[in-house]
Amino acid sequence: MQHIIDRFVKYITIDTQSDPNNPNFPSTEKQWDLANVLFKELKDIGMENVTLDDNCYIMATLPSNVDYKVPTIGFIAHIDTSPDYTGTNVKPQFHPNYNGEDIVLNKEENIVLSPSYFDDLLLYKGQTLITTDGTTLLGADDKAGIAEIVSAMEYLIQHPEIKHGEIRIGFTPDEEVGKGAHMFDVDKFGAEWAYTMDGSQVGELEYENFNAAGATVTINGKIVHPGYAKGKMINSMLIANEFIAALPQNEIPQETTGYEGFFHLHAMNGEVEKTVLEYIIRDHDMELYQGRKAQFQKIANDLNEKLGNNLIEVEINDQYFNMREKIEPVMHIVDIAEEAMKNVGVTPLIKAIRGGTDGSQLSYKGLPCPNIFAGGHNFHGRYEYIAAESLQLATDVIVNIAQLTAKKYK
Ligand SMILES: [Zn+2]
Repeated sequence: MQHIIDRFVKYITIDTQSDPNNPNFPSTEKQWDLANVLFKELKDIGMENVTLDDNCYIMATLPSNVDYKVPTIGFIAHIDTSPDYTGTNVKPQFHPNYNGEDIVLNKEENIVLSPSYFDDLLLYKGQTLITTDGTTLLGADDKAGIAEIVSAMEYLIQHPEIKHGEIRIGFTPDEEVGKGAHMFDVDKFGAEWAYTMDGSQVGELEYENFNAAGATVTINGKIVHPGYAKGKMINSMLIANEFIAALPQNEIPQETTGYEGFFHLHAMNGEVEKTVLEYIIRDHDMELYQGRKAQFQKIANDLNEKLGNNLIEVEINDQYFNMREKIEPVMHIVDIAEEAMKNVGVTPLIKAIRGGTDGSQLSYKGLPCPNIFAGGHNFHGRYEYIAAESLQLATDVIVNIAQLTAKKYK
C-alpha cells in the first residue's frame, strides 16, 4: 500500500488550485505542473497513446488483452483543487491505526479534527488516516481519483493474466470551477461509457444529480433626498426583501435533503438605486425544476405588475441537468460498478448527488458517466482527510470493473 500512498502524496504536494475569476483555459497555469508529471508517469508505467492537449486534458490508453470485442470503457478524474481553500504547501500528516479519538491537526492554531463533529471518521478506525496540517486543504478531491486510476492501470499492466478490453483514462482541468467537461473531446476519448472517480465515502456510486440553474435578479430603484422622498423614492433593497420573502421559506439548502430541491440566495448586493440578488435553483426532478424556474419568474412578474415600471429583471440560465435520463437506458454500466464493489468487499451506497459532477455534463455530451467514490471526506477545506485503505479499495474497484466488463462481453 505504501506505493499508492507515495503516489498520492506526490500529487497532493503539487499545487493545482483553479480560479473561477480567470477566464483563461485552464484557469491557472499551475495545473500544468501536475499535468506534465502525469503525462510522463503514464508513459513510464507503459500506457499507450498518451496525450496532453493545449487545454490541459490528458488522455491515455490501456489496450485490450483479449481477442474478442469488448466495449471501450473510461475512467476520469480532475487535476485541479477547489478555489475555496488554499492548496499551496500541502503537508500531509499520517495517523496509522487510527484509534477513533480527536486528531490535533495543528497545535499552535488549535485545529482539531474530531469524530464528535465529523462522525464518519469512525468508519476508518484501525486504518491509516491521511490528514492536512490544518493550514491547507488535502487535495484528495480529486488527486485520490487520479492516484487510484494510475495505480489500477499500473496493476493491470503488471498483471497481464487479468483480462480486460480497451481502457481509456482522462484527467481534466478546472472541474472545481464547473468547466472540467467543457473542452473534453468525447469523440477523441472514444469510450462507450466511463466513470468519474470523484465521490466521497467508500461505496458511493452515483448516477443522479441535480438539474441546475443560476438566476440573477436585478431591481432598479430611484434615489431621492430622504427629506423630500415622499411618493418619489423607490428603495430597491426593500423590493428585494419582498422578492426574497415571496419564495418558499423552507426550500433552502439548510432545510432540505435527499430529493428535495431548493432556491439558494448566495449573494446580494444593494443600495437604494439598485439591488442584485444571485440565486441557484436546484431540483432532481425535471418537471419540478421547470416549475421552480417558472415560479421564480412569476414572483418577479407579479411584483412588476404590483409596482409598475418593470423595476425587476430576472435572468435564469440552465447550468447542468440530471444525468439519470442518460444513464437509465444503459443501467448495466451502474450494475457493473455495483458488482465490482461487492467483489472487492465494498458495500455500494447508491444515492443521488445534491450537486453536479463532470459526469453529468459528459453524459449529455454522449459519454454516460456515473460517479464512483474516491474515498476522501470533508472536501474543499482544512478538515479534508482520506484513509490509505480507501485509495487501495477504489483501485481494486477499477481493476474489477475492467475485468467484469471483459467477462460480460465474452
Ligand atoms: Zn472533485
